Amino acid sequence: MSEDRDTELADTLAEVGRRIGQAVTDALERIRPTFDALAAVTNRPEVRAVIERAEKAVRRRPCLCFCSRAHPADRGICETFDAVITGQYSSDLLGDVDVPLCAPCAAARAAQKFAE
Ligand SMILES: [Zn+2]
Ligand SMILES: [Zn+2]
Repeated sequence: MSEDRDTELADTLAEVGRRIGQAVTDALERIRPTFDALAAVTNRPEVRAVIERAEKAVRRRPCLCFCSRAHPADRGICETFDAVITGQYSSDLLGDVDVPLCAPCAAARAAQKFAE
């Protein structure tokens, strides 16, 4: 009895899986022309230039140093929008997390640690 139900369940799951697979295939077929059009557009040089500029802007990361806490003696040195390296920030809430730091902050933090 219970074996029958298992088979039935397996059949149902297989059918559901088949339908989802079909739905995904249909959806992909439908958006495919959009993708092709997009690919054609992004290959044009003027569009590539815009994308590259955007990528460069995104790559400029803000410094997420907690200056007043991490190196209170040198609070004003931060190059806020020029984070170049990744440092560690320990917080009670998140544990150790990687944070982008600018070069002066990284140096100040190292000096601070050294002085401790
Ligand atoms: Zn800092
Ligand atoms: Zn900084």
